Amino acid sequence: MKTKRKLVKYLVSLIILVFYRFNTKAKENKINTKVLSDKIFFKHKISKDHPETPDRIKYIINYLNKSKLNHLIENVDINSGNIIENWIKEIHSNNHIKNIKEMEPLAHKVSSAAVEICIKGVDMIFNSDVRNIFCAVRPPGHHALNTGKEEGFCYYNHVAITAKYIQKKYLIDRILIVDWDYHHGNSTEYFFYDDPSVLFFSSHDQYAYPGTGSPLKKGKNRGLGYNINVHLPCNTTDKEIIDVYKKKLLPIVKKFKPEFILISAGFDSRVDDPLGCYKVTDNGFSELTKIVLNIANKFCDGKILSILEGGYNLDGNASAAIAHIKELNKKI
Ligand SMILES: [Zn+2]
Repeated sequence: MKTKRKLVKYLVSLIILVFYRFNTKAKENKINTKVLSDKIFFKHKISKDHPETPDRIKYIINYLNKSKLNHLIENVDINSGNIIENWIKEIHSNNHIKNIKEMEPLAHKVSSAAVEICIKGVDMIFNSDVRNIFCAVRPPGHHALNTGKEEGFCYYNHVAITAKYIQKKYLIDRILIVDWDYHHGNSTEYFFYDDPSVLFFSSHDQYAYPGTGSPLKKGKNRGLGYNINVHLPCNTTDKEIIDVYKKKLLPIVKKFKPEFILISAGFDSRVDDPLGCYKVTDNGFSELTKIVLNIANKFCDGKILSILEGGYNLDGNASAAIAHIKELNKKI
């Protein structure tokens, strides 16, 4: 009897050891980052000479090539029309979608493709060896409300739709959305304002477009305390923005314990952007990325999907995106 018990004990320890080794090995083998994009983002323009231009994506791809990071790029088949529209409906009204389709069919197509890339990116994070993903997509999305028209160059809120997708498809409870675009992500705030399952943290200039983003707006009902707006004035430096993320984001995240992190990665908060007035450098974006990565490694096995929002200095936007991607790709 004693020998039998010993044998069972031995076998259980062996199974635990093999499982642990296998698990550690699997984690070590994880690829860090992928960049998802598609030629469809070379289409659609609001008007001639508009700053939200296909060149934004072309420049990012060129910079990736120049930095010898092109092996990180993965093209995704854009083919799931109706399925994607059903996910868009998780955030946007039928009327909004109908109006965009009728008035701006190409914008509808391109923004839907951005949604498709984001949700396929989520699938890759959950089902493959990749830890995090940067979606080089456009137009931006974080100003898109249900007004039936374009708002601040946006048609559909990609980050908000992706958050709903993660929650419904993967039954995830707590999602952190970090938005460091120069402009306030008013639509993201609007759609999750009373929702405690999504912690929205946005740093921005509250006096710029769209004029929202007061730090006094903290959420309502059960969502009270889950909407954090931080106003940063013109001339904000690397040190100032990094301090905000260290001092204001870290303490609340420790309590929230996110299970997935989405970044609204706008680089119009970079120095020399024609639509912004901050002095944040590429180094600043590397540091912000590092902070978010540390949170992800601590709470959610590194799961981050980062989605391009604004950024209108073509070289500046691409160079900040590269700094961000390089940091995402670092081994932990
Ligand atoms: Zn912006």
